[in-house]
Amino acid sequence: MTATVVAPAPAVDLDLIVKETYAELSDVLVQYDASGQRHPHDLSASLVGGCTRRAAYAAAEAGGWQPVTPEESVTSFIGTALDDKLMPLLAQRAGGQHHVPLVANVGGLAVHGTADLLDHRGVADGKSVGERRLTKVRELMWPFLSHWYQIAFYTVAARQAGHPAPAMRWIYIDRSTGDREVIALEFTVEALRAVIARAQEIRLWAETDPGAAPRLGPVDPRRPNRSRAIYRGPGRNYTCNACPFLKKCYGQDAEPGVVGAQRNVIHDDADMEAALEAYSQERETATAASDRQAFWADCFVGKPPGIYGRWFYGRTSNNALVGKALSAMSDKQRAAILKEYNQR
Ligand code: SF4
Repeated sequence: MTATVVAPAPAVDLDLIVKETYAELSDVLVQYDASGQRHPHDLSASLVGGCTRRAAYAAAEAGGWQPVTPEESVTSFIGTALDDKLMPLLAQRAGGQHHVPLVANVGGLAVHGTADLLDHRGVADGKSVGERRLTKVRELMWPFLSHWYQIAFYTVAARQAGHPAPAMRWIYIDRSTGDREVIALEFTVEALRAVIARAQEIRLWAETDPGAAPRLGPVDPRRPNRSRAIYRGPGRNYTCNACPFLKKCYGQDAEPGVVGAQRNVIHDDADMEAALEAYSQERETATAASDRQAFWADCFVGKPPGIYGRWFYGRTSNNALVGKALSAMSDKQRAAILKEYNQR
């Protein structure tokens, strides 16, 4: 038997290797993030489901924007890498197309983007998320609102391009465990109305005064009376931190991640009055919500643990009593609960 000869390795500095590898990784992620940045005037389908003022600035092609510093965004890298690999395979399997450029001409705006997947059932989009967001989606069995608008606009675009696109789909994948949930919704007349109304709202602000557009998200088509999401400025909201119009919107001293520029929202006594009123309303809403939740929790007391329709009522692993949607549990947790309570 011949002895394996291994050449002596040079001396190594492991600390240096770790530092170098970290630096290389950071470089690659920053470069990747920079390569994916869009022009601030790019009115994409993902933008229209977010801040109204941000979308109005884009539609008006407003000046005064600043380049956004690219980040070491591992999550967006993983999300795109997943989509890049997964969507071509899904498209092949379903006889559809992947990464399809689309433009929706609606309400006087041209909203464009690239749909992950388009087949005979309609547009589908892959969303890689963390565990908490996946749980939220399962509880609601509805996509996040910005995701809903994105695919609704794509669906309009697909139909304008001659595809029947009867349904909308969101494929949520937990990027750490691979756990997944698919949400499918019919594209209804109400959905079309919501898309048109959203495009009209953005266009109206873009043509009048984009800087006065509300720092609010879109209306929820299922719950139109619900408060709209507030874009609370730097240090309070990730979208604001990464917004090229941050200084135009919150003042020249606004810096990504730094709370304080919110003070620029108040210019005079009338603004102060409005802010105090909004603060008071929010407090009342939060208190009322917590009171209502406490009321329902009191109603459960003494009731036997078990499965009630799509809900589980009982003790979790940390022994707390909870009411939780079965759909919001992991497959393993749900199987254990179904086994235990169906056997009673
Ligand atoms: S800074 Fe925030 S609130 Fe202002 S336009 Fe940008 S996303 Fe909207």
